Amino acid sequence: MSIDIGPPEFIPLSMLNALAYCPRRFAYEFIQAEMLLNEHVVEGHLRHEGVDLGGTTWLEDTVQHRRVYVWSNHLRIAGFCDVVEARGGERYPVEFKKGRPGRWQNDHAQICAQALCLEERTGARIERGFIFYFAARRREEVRFTQELRAEVEHLAREAHRLAAAGTLPPPIDQRARCRACSLEPLCLPDEIRQLTGAVAG
Ligand code: SF4
Repeated sequence: MSIDIGPPEFIPLSMLNALAYCPRRFAYEFIQAEMLLNEHVVEGHLRHEGVDLGGTTWLEDTVQHRRVYVWSNHLRIAGFCDVVEARGGERYPVEFKKGRPGRWQNDHAQICAQALCLEERTGARIERGFIFYFAARRREEVRFTQELRAEVEHLAREAHRLAAAGTLPPPIDQRARCRACSLEPLCLPDEIRQLTGAVAG
């Protein structure tokens, strides 16, 4: 017997990152709960353990709150900020990532989504956040522009639409993204492109 619990009320913030990267990846990870472990995924989990513990740290002029749960009733998204920092009257999210700054902006969408949730919870505008890339050992500043905010709103709507539909979108055309995607052995994008091309031809 299967129990139909319907589409989710809230989409996890990390799944907006997956959707910004590829709608098919979002469907595998969120709708079908599929995940393939490779060395990059495992390393990412291990590096994340330090910020997954929660708690508060007082530095010289900065207060760091780790693992802060945030949500937006407007966008119906929810999840954890790795760190919310407060300094000099400014409050902003900091996200930790395993690798280097990517060619694609999916990490930017995730941290902007965190900021929109924080804004809704606190009522205060947040102009920027930071992503710390372990491999590069530096923080990248992300400005929360109107374009980025609009993209997050679009991603949230699209995530709910895809979750309600419950179907697997076709592979994307950007092979470079597929080559960097841990789900490629499951997704088989080249094989599907060849097969659908053969059928269409
Ligand atoms: S392999 Fe390509 S099409 Fe498949 S989930 Fe990854 S990025 Fe998307």
